[in-house]
Amino acid sequence: MFCADLHSHSTVSDGLLAPAALVGRAASRGVDLLALTDHDDIGGLAEARAAADALGMDFVDGVEISVSWRDSTVHVVGLGVDPGSEALREGLARIRDGRAGRARRMGEALAAIGIRGALEGASALAANPELVSRTHFARFLVGTGIVPGVREAFDRYLARGRPGYVSHRWAEPAEAVGWIRAAGGIAVLAHPGRYRLGERGLDQLLAEFKDCGGGAIEVSSGSHSDGEARTFARAARRFGLLASLGSDFHGPGESLTDLGCAAPLPDDLAPVWTRLC
Ligand code: AMP
Ligand code: MN
Ligand code: MN
Ligand code: MN
Repeated sequence: MFCADLHSHSTVSDGLLAPAALVGRAASRGVDLLALTDHDDIGGLAEARAAADALGMDFVDGVEISVSWRDSTVHVVGLGVDPGSEALREGLARIRDGRAGRARRMGEALAAIGIRGALEGASALAANPELVSRTHFARFLVGTGIVPGVREAFDRYLARGRPGYVSHRWAEPAEAVGWIRAAGGIAVLAHPGRYRLGERGLDQLLAEFKDCGGGAIEVSSGSHSDGEARTFARAARRFGLLASLGSDFHGPGESLTDLGCAAPLPDDLAPVWTRLC
């Protein structure tokens, strides 16, 4: 059976494997078509594509853009983007700039509750100095023994409402979708199950997303239950969106879902990869 995984992370953002190693793992797990979708950066695409070519695996250039919608943070994946696109590169550079300021504020917020050196510690764990994420802060908190695991780091310190969380404005949905389309890609609403928007909120987000040029929704995701996948399959039908699927793999031992392991899409939906390549 054809196996696609259109959502994954490397050390260019908060993944644990370098782009080539990620591609190698995907190939060895039987993935036929892989997208690398690092947060707010496309710096890993060339290495990943070269590795995929060498292994004879099909590869899609991707990115996962951080977006603010109302008072929520949502993620928009771009698939089939041209890594040379100036509009995309400039937009992502702006988001990374904001991310650096947020990381400083997170360091200050943690210092205020007695956790010192968090910005330096998180930065030291980030292979890409422009991409310090909450995941790096979480790994720092685990490494210093403050919490037993990444999950506890989010639950106690880094999730919204916890002391290390600082609010931040990312891109507007229309900006992120615009950059992706300017780069020739398809905009995909990532893991809608993570946003806890309720049926009405989800419909409002999808209406706006579709309106500004969004083309697909992740139906099957490493962070969706079977029930959520059914809910988002219905949303794809209702809004006439293509369906995507991806593990959202970050690293061995850290992600529950490994590469290639998202559940297959319902037969009646149009898979997003029919419009790629
Ligand atoms: P950031 O974009 O810096 O806010 O970091 C978001 C990343 O943190 C996500 O892409 C996930 O990889 C990770 N993350 C968010 N919430 C959790 C959680 N509850 N447990 C583990 N990882 C999480
Ligand atoms: Mn992540
Ligand atoms: Mn995400
Ligand atoms: Mn992701």
